[in-house]
Amino acid sequence: MKIHLAILYKDYLDLILEGKKTIEARFSKVKCPPYGRVSIGDKILLKETGGPIRGEATVSVVKYFDNLAPSRVVHIVNKYKEQLQIKDNFLNQKLDSNYLTLIFLKDVVEVSPYFINKRDRRGWIVYYNHAPQSIQLDLFGNKVSDKEVKINPYYSECENGLHSFFKSPLKNSEGYPRCRNCGKDIIHWKKLHIRDLKNIDFVISELRKEWWRNYWWEVEIDEKAISHALRKNSNELYVLVRKRIEKSVGIVYEFRGRKQPYRDGYQIPYKGNIIYYAQHATATCCRKCIECWHGIPQGRNLNNEEIEYLTMLVMKYIRRKLRDYKRGVIRNGK
Ligand SMILES: [Zn+2]
Ligand SMILES: [Zn+2]
Repeated sequence: MKIHLAILYKDYLDLILEGKKTIEARFSKVKCPPYGRVSIGDKILLKETGGPIRGEATVSVVKYFDNLAPSRVVHIVNKYKEQLQIKDNFLNQKLDSNYLTLIFLKDVVEVSPYFINKRDRRGWIVYYNHAPQSIQLDLFGNKVSDKEVKINPYYSECENGLHSFFKSPLKNSEGYPRCRNCGKDIIHWKKLHIRDLKNIDFVISELRKEWWRNYWWEVEIDEKAISHALRKNSNELYVLVRKRIEKSVGIVYEFRGRKQPYRDGYQIPYKGNIIYYAQHATATCCRKCIECWHGIPQGRNLNNEEIEYLTMLVMKYIRRKLRDYKRGVIRNGK
């Protein structure tokens, strides 16, 4: 399977993400990618011209045409008019093309936008063994300078053993994600998906192989969140965590034709409550992460056993953070 980077004008990218445009066409005078390079099952990263990657799709069918003439270009485009959504003025510029690739898209998903390093002007790039390295963004999706603190789930420091499996288009032979930035296959997904609380230390060490999860294990909890947590006893915390898990990820609603929790993937803030930190650290933040790390399918409510398991994971994080905090206070003689 190959990864492709397709650069698209915003209008066309919007149409693809809305599900109105389902075939991408690429015209050229000379033989150049994607002509001859796309296969069924390949992944396509959808990047806006001069902007971020905003979506991903899988190739369901691909058709190549050569020896074109203007009349044949018009004929082909008319045949797939509805799926192509090509504007007339755009087509007029392409009439003298010799080659055409039609790529039929399926499983189109919108992703939280991220930037990559791309300095040249190619409109299509084929990656054979890895996905393009993402650039760090701040929490609001802005590119930030190297000196500032920046965190995002696509970021990795692969050379330090901290990878990114977040929505990775790279899969191993069994279909489990490999690091999206270096391709390494180092997570014991099957053992994770057994969800045995006896393995809790193993689960945590696996989570911490991801830069993003590890960040939340290492980050300092804000003052408001820590003092709120310190006022509760262990039992009270347990009740709060369980409620939070049930409410944020436990119950699904019909939304955009899919069953998912309310604002799934965007519902957990980055500060203000120790449970938020814990949910990012333990991959209990959204149903996508829960499916990936804990092997629970999306599209249905969590059952009691699953809620209990995720609650205990979050509690483990909170206990550890509170213990570290208290030790720190004693050490500093406050
Ligand atoms: Zn990596
Ligand atoms: Zn998540």
